[in-house]
Amino acid sequence: MDPMEQARHRMVDEQLARRDIQDARVLDAMRRVPRHAFVPAGREHEAYLDRPLPIAVGQTISQPYIVALTAQALRIGPDARVLEIGAGSGYAAAVLAELAREVVTVERHPLLAAEAAARLASLRYGNIRVVTGDGTRGYPEAAPYEAIAVTASGPRVPSALLAELAPGGRMVIPVGPDEHRQELVLVTRGDDGQFSETILGAVRFVPLVGEDGWARADGV
Ligand code: SAH
Repeated sequence: MDPMEQARHRMVDEQLARRDIQDARVLDAMRRVPRHAFVPAGREHEAYLDRPLPIAVGQTISQPYIVALTAQALRIGPDARVLEIGAGSGYAAAVLAELAREVVTVERHPLLAAEAAARLASLRYGNIRVVTGDGTRGYPEAAPYEAIAVTASGPRVPSALLAELAPGGRMVIPVGPDEHRQELVLVTRGDDGQFSETILGAVRFVPLVGEDGWARADGV
């Protein structure tokens, strides 16, 4: 094993499996995806610490534990079609793509979207589509989805995302009153179409900026 792979396996054993990540498919996916290929150049040595890291345009690549917790809560089967909002570096999309049949990931920053698409292509992820746009409207062109992962936090669950969730589907989304306080919410949709919510824990994500998210005065 090369040193990066060794560090990654250690991270999975010590930071994930020793906590409450027990789904074997999720742990395997986390062992496969080379997170060091998704962090900024020069920070590869930090890729297997269990913490978020800054990427371009003031955004972050999520903490591995939160990516694993989200993937586990979504219970993604091999045939699932998954929607991610907030591609960022593309890291979480790669983890989801290891679990699912197909992933659509929406990113509002054109630069991040282009970089994520190029990176995922060079890593040979053929089952991920990167779309540039406002993910608070979801991506109705490919709906419905069995699982939706939102990796930026808004004031509420966007109604378009509820509409695009298949009956029996699951969504994980951070929701909170501001950029400091949020809860990671699991929304499940019953086979009868009814929604219910469970709180997975306290988290801190970058803001979900868009029509059904936060409006941003600075125009970034
Ligand atoms: N999943 C990413 C984490 C990225 S941070 C990773 O693994 O690297 C959240 C991302 O959400 C940022 O890149 C931000 O630009 C993006 N974002 C914020 N609001 C958005 C919106 N309305 N639609 C799509 N992406 C959005």
